[in-house]
Amino acid sequence: MADGFHADMGPQYEGEVIRKENLYIEFGGPKVARKFELATVKSPEEVENERIELIGPDLKDFTEGGSYPLAILVDVAGSELDKDAEAIIERRIHMFTNYTEGWYHMNQRQDMWLRMNQDCHKKGFESLRELGEILSFLYTSELSIIESIQITLVTDDKKIEELLPHALEVYTARDERTRTLRDEDVDTFYGCVLCQSFAPTHLSVITPDRIANCGAINWFDGRSAAKIDPEGPIFAIPKGDLIDPIKGEYSGVNKIESERSMATYDRVYLYSAFEHPHTSCGCFEAIVFYIPEADGFGVVNRDFKGETVIGETFSHMAGDTSGGRQVEGRLGTGLEQLMSPKFIQADGGRKRIVWLPKEIKERYKEAFEADGVYDKIPTEEDVKNTDELMEFLEKVGHPWIAGEVELPE
Ligand code: SF4
Repeated sequence: MADGFHADMGPQYEGEVIRKENLYIEFGGPKVARKFELATVKSPEEVENERIELIGPDLKDFTEGGSYPLAILVDVAGSELDKDAEAIIERRIHMFTNYTEGWYHMNQRQDMWLRMNQDCHKKGFESLRELGEILSFLYTSELSIIESIQITLVTDDKKIEELLPHALEVYTARDERTRTLRDEDVDTFYGCVLCQSFAPTHLSVITPDRIANCGAINWFDGRSAAKIDPEGPIFAIPKGDLIDPIKGEYSGVNKIESERSMATYDRVYLYSAFEHPHTSCGCFEAIVFYIPEADGFGVVNRDFKGETVIGETFSHMAGDTSGGRQVEGRLGTGLEQLMSPKFIQADGGRKRIVWLPKEIKERYKEAFEADGVYDKIPTEEDVKNTDELMEFLEKVGHPWIAGEVELPE
């Protein structure tokens, strides 16, 4: 056991899945309304090194098997650290929690989900403070660029409610940075293999037009990560030759895809859901799914709890999409990708979307309005199945159904 902790740690514990039968407690996840994780780079005076604070009840105060709110705030300082590093430091919460024996972390940002198993509790892991201490220990051991760190764990739901709006603003500001940068403006893309512990053939290709599947790492974040931790899970991908500008096939991406997927895949299209689509891990924020009846696409996000128009829930679909595979007609994706003009451009782009959850339609209203399809896309409030979908699309004259969308050549 490292340094007196009640849990061992190391990469060997990544991929450890905690099922209901062995669950001691969970934080965040689909049953909990408020949860988030946020890393902030601060000045040295603002960070009290190795301080671990818990605001709210601790493990002993909760009921075994229950689901509870949690916020994890990681504040760091370092002479070479800047704001660009925040998303990368934040994403390490995923890696380091999974390094911890008996703990499991999924998803990101305001969707995060942690589980602790019963064996871990039996070994004496009795306080959330210990999780903070482990994270602090791993951060400083693995990232020498961090000179001081303080971690705050919040389980008080009222306090989380108060802090969450700021976190959401930070996530939005990060996403907006890449909106004006295009793939053709850069020579280097970035790759991330952090999720290979769960999805061994998965490589996230991160480009200005393609945020990572988890939605937590954009091109700027990738660049920063490769700089601060060159041996880490995020690395540069020289673009190489542009083989197909419409489908988004690059020789450099194909080469790395082959190397990192153990030669399972050697081609990837960044702008299409067909033939050689991007692989999907399990952390994706949303799924783009093909609807044969309409020959169009729907998008469903992780937070959407009901059945989609094809009668499947997000979780059901996620099972068929994840694992690091290329699945034609299915794309695990970060939601911000909807804003890119290259989003499935080879297949017709946003104009080929024929169903959306209402919340997503509203969130990306501007982009759908710009394409003239905002009023043509039904949500769960308009249609319940594919028969109703077809009726709706024909009635409103959805441009894809009306044959008005030309695929780029
Ligand atoms: S989803 Fe992709 S980018 Fe995000 S952590 Fe996993 S491998 Fe990395």
